[in-house]
Amino acid sequence: MGRGWGFLFGLLGAVWLLSSGHGEEQPPETAAQRCFCQVSGYLDDCTCDVETIDRFNNYRLFPRLQKLLESDYFRYYKVNLKRPCPFWNDISQCGRRDCAVKPCQSDEVPDGIKSASYKYSEEANNLIEECEQAERLGAVDESLSEETQKAVLQWTKHDDSSDNFCEADDIQSPEAEYVDLLLNPERYTGYKGPDAWKIWNVIYEENCFKPQTIKRPLNPLASGQGKSEENTFYSWLEGLCVEKRAFYRLISGLHASINVHLSARYLLQETWLEKKWGHNITEFQQRFDGILTEGEGPRRLKNLYFLYLIELRALSKVLPFFERPDFQLFTGNKIQDEENKMLLLEILHEIKSFPLHFDENSFFAGDKKEAHKLKEDFRLHFRNISRIMDCVGCFKCRLWGKLQTQGLGTALKILFSEKLIANMPESGPSYEFHLTRQEIVSLFNAFGRISTSVKELENFRNLLQNIH
Ligand code: FAD
Repeated sequence: MGRGWGFLFGLLGAVWLLSSGHGEEQPPETAAQRCFCQVSGYLDDCTCDVETIDRFNNYRLFPRLQKLLESDYFRYYKVNLKRPCPFWNDISQCGRRDCAVKPCQSDEVPDGIKSASYKYSEEANNLIEECEQAERLGAVDESLSEETQKAVLQWTKHDDSSDNFCEADDIQSPEAEYVDLLLNPERYTGYKGPDAWKIWNVIYEENCFKPQTIKRPLNPLASGQGKSEENTFYSWLEGLCVEKRAFYRLISGLHASINVHLSARYLLQETWLEKKWGHNITEFQQRFDGILTEGEGPRRLKNLYFLYLIELRALSKVLPFFERPDFQLFTGNKIQDEENKMLLLEILHEIKSFPLHFDENSFFAGDKKEAHKLKEDFRLHFRNISRIMDCVGCFKCRLWGKLQTQGLGTALKILFSEKLIANMPESGPSYEFHLTRQEIVSLFNAFGRISTSVKELENFRNLLQNIH
């Protein structure tokens, strides 16, 4: 090649480098950057950043939480997977082997759990009941007749149920069974296509405050979408009040978390002897790569962090309830139960020490009447979502879908319960606020799932580091 050509190529190269903004040759973008480069820094509507959450979760919380969730108290969850779908008739179960759930034999579950009691003796039982009664009656005018006082107590019970964000599962039904969560892990099941899309679609289209005219980006059940729909969707979302925006982001975060799990525990290989489960990088990229998902993937991952912060805040707020001396993680094994309570409190104190908690006081804070209506709407929409879980056509997905919505519903109950706001933490734990064992088990397991997702993101980041 003559000197003239060499000079020309050199010049063109220099112009390209300058015009592309690079003084020196840059390595091509890695797959990790395409999934994660926008998932960093501050999260919308919060004062917290992703890196602080990663460090806190992956090294301080995750290992201890896993240990707690392996204990008997947390591994057995009672659920009715046979409730009919309340919204449509066709409920064809997918019939896949990986969708099956193996319920516990009755002798597997410790008696202490089945007896639904928190206490070790009848005396302790009576004492606590007396305390609770006294505290409730304290708020009732003592000059009222005994009958009226009883009626007021009934109202207190009613108030309790109106705090709930979830439709209570009918665990007293003969069809409800205990399931060992460790033996039925959330992972890839093969439940996908129109049946799964229909569930997500109903959740987003009918329960996320969205008018039908606004289209969700990349919705597989809506045809002919373009960039303009995406722009309309995000300007609609930004125009919403903070509560409704938060609602969408919580659901999207839950959806992202489920999809991270199925990508992290994917069926990689199957022989007649064994199945091999592990990380499926392609599956993860298809769902979260910024280019492959036209920017949607990183947004979904940010919503997952938002969900993490909401549940984290609820756990820090409910600490005084678990600190009550009479509260036990009762299974009947006294030493084990005490150790578990210590571990649980250690975890909750750690959570309380997190420096950048979400501030829920910005929610439902405006005009009292409007705020009340908004909270009611929020609650009803969420209850509806918990009912839709009975329409999921794969038992394993239904189990974990129910557990995670109940867990998130419990977190919302904690964050927005008037009783908790009025009494805690300043004036100490109140006996008016209650969580059932089901609520406790779902709250911690649901948070355990989100915490695992955050940890899995670190694993995927490492796996994608050297892929272009
Ligand atoms: P889907 O995940 O079905 O999503 C449908 C559409 O919603 C996407 O095309 C996209 O436009 C949009 N979307 C996707 N993610 C988000 C997000 N985070 N935020 C906003 N919009 C989004 N499968 C398993 O293998 N194991 C399970 O345990 C499991 N549990 C499930 C639990 C429930 C309640 C449901 C409804 C489904 C569950 N699935 C499970 C199925 C799984 O979630 C997917 O539906 C399935 O893998 C098909 O994925 P997809 O890529 O087609 O899109």
